[in-house]
Amino acid sequence: MNQFDNIIDGLKDDLITAIQENVSIKSVGGEPEEGAPFGAGPKKALDNFINISEHLGFRTGVFEDMVGWAEYGEKEAPMVCILGHLDVVPEGDGWTYPPYGAEIHEGKMYGRGVVDDKGPVICSLFALKALRETGITLKHRVRVLVGTNEETGSRAVKKYVEEGQELPVAGFTPDADYPLINGEKGILICQGEATFIPQGDIQILSLKGGIADNVVPAHCEAILKVSPELMKKVRYTIENWEGPARTSASLKKNEDGTLTLSVEGVSGHGSTPHIGVNSIAWMVKLLITLGITGEQGKFLSSVNRLIGTEYHGESLGICLYDDVSHYTSLCWGTMEATDGKVSFSINPRYPVTFREEEVLPALISSFENEGISLTVKMKDDPLFMSEDSELVQKLMKVYREKTGRDEKPLAIGGGTYAKAMPNILAFGPEMPGKSYNIHEADEGWEIEDMMETTKIMAAAIIELAK
Ligand SMILES: [Zn+2]
Repeated sequence: MNQFDNIIDGLKDDLITAIQENVSIKSVGGEPEEGAPFGAGPKKALDNFINISEHLGFRTGVFEDMVGWAEYGEKEAPMVCILGHLDVVPEGDGWTYPPYGAEIHEGKMYGRGVVDDKGPVICSLFALKALRETGITLKHRVRVLVGTNEETGSRAVKKYVEEGQELPVAGFTPDADYPLINGEKGILICQGEATFIPQGDIQILSLKGGIADNVVPAHCEAILKVSPELMKKVRYTIENWEGPARTSASLKKNEDGTLTLSVEGVSGHGSTPHIGVNSIAWMVKLLITLGITGEQGKFLSSVNRLIGTEYHGESLGICLYDDVSHYTSLCWGTMEATDGKVSFSINPRYPVTFREEEVLPALISSFENEGISLTVKMKDDPLFMSEDSELVQKLMKVYREKTGRDEKPLAIGGGTYAKAMPNILAFGPEMPGKSYNIHEADEGWEIEDMMETTKIMAAAIIELAK
């Protein structure tokens, strides 16, 4: 136990009160208002953060009502940054304790934003306060910087960066996992489109599967018009269909004589498509078995050949590999057909040492060769800092010393807040093997764990700013 840790222990009650104050503000993103570009809630949380910071004696600043900061250190010195966010996802149902109550039960605080990410933001302020109280001289200025739009696109911090606001020389965002994330895959979300006119004896009148581009679809439904001669055969094929484990198909006859075919799979996150079972992919295979002809049949066999049930984009020519983050992953998230048109989305995530130019042209031409047009809806470059880099070395040293643990840095399927700002890596606050219910009911953080993270943060700030 060093002097910083002792001071942090002495700040415990104030730290808890400050987190409770901020968590009690419901800061789900909403419609823009005057002086509140991401809604009144996130702005109120930002005002409260500035209040707390000033109360703790820090200089503060605000950029366009969407980003705020608290600062300590020489004004002219280069800046080290702790990046966090104050917006939260909606609370949803099923809470044991009030989601904006920040109540403590058996040593754990519960509430939306307690771990993601208000708690860690306030912990970093108190870590900085502890350093100031010791009078330690730091070579760098330290800025705790908060955005108000992380959960729905990181637009606040992106704008801060685009408009040429000051950038850090090093830093971390406590908005993910310990020990450290030094690799985040590149992400693409693309939309494919083709004509899909019903012809022949079995016609697909409509089709709909999936809920989001980055979620493995658990449910897919199609409405079919089948000629009387083929009705028996179609019903027999569907009723006797045997898909892989954890899939099922069912059929319902509608009043107008059409059939509704449903295929069930298993949902999963888009970065780990192998964990789910894709209902769209299996719907396509089943429809092909029925013998659909014409334009619809051609489209189905194209997407089955190019995507099918593959998780790595092998047949699309985008299955890349590196030792840091392994293979490309591919999630086929949605598909929808009505009025003679079909569209679908795919979400490839490519390994951290590759560039978009090594993925996108191959992807586009694979589909174009089959008469399917592909457009990019979203792209996010990969992030990678090698284990030998100074930032990784320093943060890993702090983690090992403060926790006595020795996990390796992580490479993930991508998308932490670190991508929003240069020279930042995701560092904590979730300890390996523990559950925090982020984005779920009963999000919660043990007070002991909270205090440990504050001490790790203080040590990390010293390491980066000394
Ligand atoms: Zn977060």
